[in-house]
Amino acid sequence: MRHRAYLAVLAAALSMTTSDLAAQGPEPIRYTLRFPAPHTHYVEVEATYPSGGRPQVDLMMAVWTPGSYLIREYERHVEGVTATGAGGRALGAVKTAKNRWRVDTGGGAAVTVTYRVYGREMTVRNNWVEAGFAMLNGAPTFITLADRTPRPHEVRIDMPAAWKGSQTALPPIPGQPHAYRAEDFDTLVDSPLVLGNPVVKSFDVAGTAHHLVLEGDPSLFDADRAAADIRRIVEAGVATMGPFEYPHYHFLNMVVETGGGLEHKNSFLTMSNRFVTRTRQPYINWLSLVAHEYFHNWNIKRLRPVELGPFDYETENHTKSLWVAEGVTDYYGALLVRRAGITTTPEYLDMLSNSIEAVQTRPGRRVQSAEMASFDTWIKQYRPDENSPNTSIDYYDKGATIAFLLDATIRKATAGGKSLDDAMRLAYGRYSGARGFTPVQFQQAMSETAGTDLSAWFAQVLTTTDELDFSTALDWFGLRFAPVDPRALRATTGLVTRNDSGRLVVSQVRRHTPAYDSGINVDDEILAIDDLRVRADGLTARMEQYRAGETVRVLVARRDRLMIVPVTLGAEPGRPWRLQVKPDATTEQQARLTAWLGR
Ligand SMILES: [Zn+2]
Repeated sequence: MRHRAYLAVLAAALSMTTSDLAAQGPEPIRYTLRFPAPHTHYVEVEATYPSGGRPQVDLMMAVWTPGSYLIREYERHVEGVTATGAGGRALGAVKTAKNRWRVDTGGGAAVTVTYRVYGREMTVRNNWVEAGFAMLNGAPTFITLADRTPRPHEVRIDMPAAWKGSQTALPPIPGQPHAYRAEDFDTLVDSPLVLGNPVVKSFDVAGTAHHLVLEGDPSLFDADRAAADIRRIVEAGVATMGPFEYPHYHFLNMVVETGGGLEHKNSFLTMSNRFVTRTRQPYINWLSLVAHEYFHNWNIKRLRPVELGPFDYETENHTKSLWVAEGVTDYYGALLVRRAGITTTPEYLDMLSNSIEAVQTRPGRRVQSAEMASFDTWIKQYRPDENSPNTSIDYYDKGATIAFLLDATIRKATAGGKSLDDAMRLAYGRYSGARGFTPVQFQQAMSETAGTDLSAWFAQVLTTTDELDFSTALDWFGLRFAPVDPRALRATTGLVTRNDSGRLVVSQVRRHTPAYDSGINVDDEILAIDDLRVRADGLTARMEQYRAGETVRVLVARRDRLMIVPVTLGAEPGRPWRLQVKPDATTEQQARLTAWLGR
């Protein structure tokens, strides 16, 4: 962005246009997007690549999207790749790898390649095209030169007649409707496009334009209220992290039938359902997602693990620091909504408790450390199966929990003088931009803020599977885990089940539960307990007829064969990980709570 601003100043001084000047740098790749039949879910792409005088050019499509750590093989939705040279002369184009093509240039200065992309996956990293609108992401749409010399990528959109609006964080090309210029491929991949007739609500914070963009079906969505609340979240973010560095920001929200969010440098893409602003809990959950993705503008898009940039778009990029990038961000997501005055303290503690409970009730916490969960995200976090709870953790939940403990640790070590906010601002000042941090550098910034060496603490919480110690945090803020009444605990098999069209089927068998010890399997259909039929919705009620310690005979169908499995029931654990303010919290503890959460 600084580079573009500099060009603009220089161009003004020389009475040239920025494109005149930029033309003297590496030549751009120019894309035109067309939607001749959007109801068939296709976007047609025409791309012109400078040949650089080479007899052949190699083209590449990214196989993953930064922020979503799974190889997704976007090229599987590409078809009809053809190449032409000057005057429309056909050129040879062959596929050389799953995501690569080699094009003969015939000695020409440029080659033009056309292809179609099928887009009908409503997720934040893929594409959706339908009659009324399109949502396009960079990685699954734009084939680029495999030679990654930084060069501008220009996108012109030939909009269907009924579509009036295009929204993206990319800067527009002056004088051309629906035309945008990315300074390089990374920026193009980092800038989703929303096309159609979006509802846009704009507001300024510190003189910078912010745009809430709603596409899909926003007819029941309270856009004004959402924009007002997002503005408060932005202000809470600035109060926490200091000034933002983006030139403008787009909150792109698809109002559809699914959820999810993905961060970008000057925008984010989220999804929510049409009713989300109409009831409180879904709304504050969505605002927490908004705050999470927005907080990423500081944490990961600028302050980042050293391994996450420059990206290799053709293979896995491993890092041990996603507990910072995602976990710390998750901690601040809910916290900013509280600091913005939108949620109450009990509502905030409920959200934090959800993270803690998810960590503490997952058997995999004794198997996988926070750092290894990050490193193996490509094969575990994004590829969960029925055994995942037994063998892995979620670095969002554990990272957020560690951030909470770290925040309290810094506050206690400095007698309330400093907090994780100060530590994050220090890390941001030191490592944001092109630099990136190593795990040791990040931890040193935390220790420096705390005024004490936290390396042993970090080694324990990040590299081991030891249980976390909540005592310091609870004591500092005057919190406790709400007591569980043992008389309220029911008998349980410990199974996780699902109602599969009226059949009661086992979805998960968690370690250290009665079912796990007795040999019930995932996908067993539970038919009866002690010779009495159990309906798909009847297991909880049936368990109320028993006490922990009793042995029941469970009739299951396993791959269609009936068998009886004796299970000695245990006691439900209840919910021992729900935070609340201690009824007898001292004045000092209450003051610390206020310093942490705001009034
Ligand atoms: Zn995130």
